[in-house]
Amino acid sequence: SEPAEAIRRIDRESVHRICSGQVVLSLGTAVKELVENSLDAGATSIDVRLKDHGVELIEVSDNGGGVEEENFEGLTLKHYTSKIQDFSDLTHVETFGFRGEALSSLCALSDVTISTCHKSAKIGTRLVFDHNGKITQKAPYPRQQGTTVSIQQLFHTLPVRHKEFQRNIKKEYAKMVQILQAYCIISKGVRINCTNQVGQGKKSPVVSTTGGLHLKENIGAVFGKKQLQSLIPFVQLPPSEAVCEEYGLKSTDLPEKLYSKEMFAKMEIIGQFNLGFIIAKLNSDLFIIDQHATDEKYNFEMLQQHTVLQGQKLIVPQNLNLTAVNETVLIENLEIFRKNGFDFVINENAPVTQRVKLISLPTSKNWTFGPQDIDELIFMLSDCPGVMCRPSRVRQMFASRACRKSVMIGTALNVQEMKKLVTHMGEIEHPWNCPHGRPTMRHIASLDLIAAE
Ligand code: ADP
Ligand code: MG
Repeated sequence: SEPAEAIRRIDRESVHRICSGQVVLSLGTAVKELVENSLDAGATSIDVRLKDHGVELIEVSDNGGGVEEENFEGLTLKHYTSKIQDFSDLTHVETFGFRGEALSSLCALSDVTISTCHKSAKIGTRLVFDHNGKITQKAPYPRQQGTTVSIQQLFHTLPVRHKEFQRNIKKEYAKMVQILQAYCIISKGVRINCTNQVGQGKKSPVVSTTGGLHLKENIGAVFGKKQLQSLIPFVQLPPSEAVCEEYGLKSTDLPEKLYSKEMFAKMEIIGQFNLGFIIAKLNSDLFIIDQHATDEKYNFEMLQQHTVLQGQKLIVPQNLNLTAVNETVLIENLEIFRKNGFDFVINENAPVTQRVKLISLPTSKNWTFGPQDIDELIFMLSDCPGVMCRPSRVRQMFASRACRKSVMIGTALNVQEMKKLVTHMGEIEHPWNCPHGRPTMRHIASLDLIAAE
């Protein structure tokens, strides 16, 4: 059989099943995917270098196993992975990533360069990729064992997203730091260091750990000694072992896998804290839930799923100047465009690239939409045809609507009302974060552990 680390194509059916939604990357997910790859490669030392908070450059270097020459081509091709072969493998995946599309997505969204030296190679290689993930330059490159992935100008291939990325960089950066901190804490025995350089200024440290073997050391390194004394930590801590066992959870997973949605219906409401938080108990685990954030996420997902945006007819139908491929993607996904308030007339007899005319745009009091939003939808749909999705600005609009209609901090809630909010968490796709990325809940303590102290 093939060596475990050879990079192979996943079969089509599995691809379809895995492709569960749109892969819209953020700075946080980009860094997360790269750090996961380094951890998967067995690195004990990982350096993350950012320029201008990640706008100019995101670079992750590791001392892991490196990539073998025969795997260079597969590195960035969509759905190529060394980690699974078919869907049944998914249930056994021990490594973090499994979809084989992080590097291919990053190539589509930015300028990617990889230098690597496999443990069996005499000298390293530097590879430059184009936006299709094809290698355009390949040259010998002296370096120690391991891999460096450089991402320049993330999102520059999607002008609207790129602008938004730069505009929201503070938030993106804050979220990325949180994710990195979580990895720093859970990665025992791995030294992680992250720096940021603004313009030509000097590098400033973002977060760093010493590769300690204990969670406690890592928490100390990330938050400083002071934080240890208060320990509601900023990151999700795993539930107790008993709960993990009962729900088949792995305590090293990220929040979405750390908890199971079935847990919510079974939680017992203990009470409200500071008119803003629900305290709930499951077996011997105590959780604190942000009442506004969680209601906001529920309302947001309901809007995302069910809202049919009203379109406003244009006076003059508008040409879109689409490429032939994009035109086909649009024609094949008309229903999804309609749900988003975009409508078109299709003239089958017109020459290819001239077949589509825009006749209706979504409208809302404070938002205007245009061809860039159509381009963005086409980009998402060419990845996952037929899967309902929304342009990022529609998402933003829903997020602000959801915020306005959700229960506010400062509102007293009775047990039934709290129970309803917590039950809702088990009914939605992604209850772990509010639409703006703030966590909705945290594990505070295990009563067993407290009793044992
Ligand atoms: P996945 O991690 O899901 O397999 P990725 O697109 O993240 O998909 O990576 C594709 C492949 O590239 C991985 O399966 C792995 O073989 C290789 N790879 C990526 N990053 C590294 C790294 N830092 N060190 C060694 N191999 C890597
Ligand atoms: Mg990966």
